[in-house]
Amino acid sequence: MASVTLKITNETLKKMDEFYASSKIEGSSKPENYILWQAKTIDDVVITIYSSSKGLKALFNGPSALNESHIWDENASLNVSKHKLKAEWLYLDDQIGSDEVGTGDFFGPVVVVASYVKASQLDYLRRLGVDDSKRLTDKKIKEIAPKLMEEVIYIKQVCPNTKYNEQIELGQTMNSIKALLHNNALLKVRNKVGNEPCFVDQFCDVDKYYSYLQNQKQIVNTNITFKTKGETYYPSVAVSSIIARSIFLDEIDAMSAALGVTIPLGASLKVDEVAKIISRKIGKDKLKDYIKINFVNYKNL
Ligand code: MN
Repeated sequence: MASVTLKITNETLKKMDEFYASSKIEGSSKPENYILWQAKTIDDVVITIYSSSKGLKALFNGPSALNESHIWDENASLNVSKHKLKAEWLYLDDQIGSDEVGTGDFFGPVVVVASYVKASQLDYLRRLGVDDSKRLTDKKIKEIAPKLMEEVIYIKQVCPNTKYNEQIELGQTMNSIKALLHNNALLKVRNKVGNEPCFVDQFCDVDKYYSYLQNQKQIVNTNITFKTKGETYYPSVAVSSIIARSIFLDEIDAMSAALGVTIPLGASLKVDEVAKIISRKIGKDKLKDYIKINFVNYKNL
């Protein structure tokens, strides 16, 4: 179960008191357990306020615990349970791994990164928090990515929106575009470091993957493993996912600055709203330089 613990001030407690007034659980106050009160939100997050000699603490428990805690501290992060501290890395020797970012986001490019990780670097990577890559906040990602980029050999492949949309109009798909980017990134890393084993965060059937590559001159098809949630199992994929995310976030930041609008991630209703605002500002045609035309969000416009 996802949980977040926040240290809070008396002032925040007062605000929480008001904010959760109508969702408080009756009879939840248990001074003998240092519990001031508990509340339950419509998203099934249970908030427990503790008061002890060490100060005030708010515990958020439930599937949307992280979201709820962000109301109070935008830098809050999930509690790490002790038995999950170390990822179950399946391969601990020198390796190449690739992952992509931006495929679920209406705005921004598709970014694929392949990295070469050596066995001797794993301790350092764990110390940076790579073994917990799924739980890293964007703030933490921006903090460790530069260190990773200095530490490992990596190749990035960025497919900007203009190029992406061109390919879609030519009949390509998200997955065929991704396959090309992964193959190119892996090839380039292998050219630098030699024929090391490759691991790919799997996003489609392996046969499909190779069918997308059939016209390529060079294909990485030996000593390669595909696995979904690859970043949990292979440190090289985890490193690539962190570097790719940080490159993607930088691109989004640059777009936000250029357009004077904060660009939201994902493909939600909020994204539709912002797309409308930008479309009014620069026109629907120019908007295409920033979005992916095969998303429903584009049809919603
Ligand atoms: Mn992935």
